[in-house]
Amino acid sequence: MRKGIIFNIQRYSLHDGPGIRTTIFFKGCPLSCWWCQNPESINPHAEVMRQPERCLGCSSCLDACPEGAVRIGEAGPVIERSLCSLCLKCTLVCPADALEAVGREYTTQELVKEALKDRFIFDNSGGGVSFSGGEPLMQPEFLQEVLMTLKKEDVHTVIDTSGCAPWTVLEQLAAHTDLFLYDLKLIDDLESRKYTGISSRLAVDNLKKLTERGLPVKVRMPVIPSITDHYVNIDAMVKVLKECGLGKLELIPYHNYGTAKYSKLDLEYRPGTLEMPASEELSKIKGRFEKQGIKIINEDD
Ligand code: SF4
Ligand code: SF4
Repeated sequence: MRKGIIFNIQRYSLHDGPGIRTTIFFKGCPLSCWWCQNPESINPHAEVMRQPERCLGCSSCLDACPEGAVRIGEAGPVIERSLCSLCLKCTLVCPADALEAVGREYTTQELVKEALKDRFIFDNSGGGVSFSGGEPLMQPEFLQEVLMTLKKEDVHTVIDTSGCAPWTVLEQLAAHTDLFLYDLKLIDDLESRKYTGISSRLAVDNLKKLTERGLPVKVRMPVIPSITDHYVNIDAMVKVLKECGLGKLELIPYHNYGTAKYSKLDLEYRPGTLEMPASEELSKIKGRFEKQGIKIINEDD
């Protein structure tokens, strides 16, 4: 039986596919989008998140750390990340959860058991289980085993992906997947490399392959002010959608609900301050797509 690293299991999800769902967040992502609101998803390994305001000053973490990577600063625990070996020993001894582990290992059986706890809700709402992240395609063998087990139970399955994985991975998983939620961000290769850390070519090529084979895909575009929302990107997105024979798109407006997590992981939030897009801006973007024949849909369509 395979094992995978998961950092969150969210019940009663309404935005990750049809009906009421359980969304399972996989650790690890090949992208590093500037605006990512799940920065704890990027590292493929379990890691430590600091909540310094909870610290009791007991020093247990100092004694537990084999690398001498923790010290207590004026505002609570500080981790020298370059020394940290991710052993998680500090998180086991902290009595106040001021140092918390993000990510834990599950076997296929454990994860499926968790997911099936809400079976009744899936059956009564037309829901199921969604896989998000991070990038679930980063743990392909584990995901495949979980998907196959859920399909044997006749559970509806969704993968939320950037499409940035070898085609063979998508092809294999497609056999057990009822819907791909496909997040396309930036079409221009240089912009994609700058703001997501990866070329756009693989995502575009894989989308073409999925649609050529008639596999169920719903494309979503994050609306990130001054990064993805300019007309050159919108027009390039229209071209790709049309080449794929797709006439619909969901817009995902930027939000900043996860920004506070950056300092807890000692990561830099590169955009600095970003405002959530105003409704007039969203209307203009919608108009630009619809004028070119792409219908803007909501999450229920
Ligand atoms: S995870 Fe291990 S190495 Fe890193 S700070 Fe905690 S105890 Fe030290
Ligand atoms: S173990 Fe927890 S509460 Fe105690 S000093 Fe370390 S971070 Fe603070």
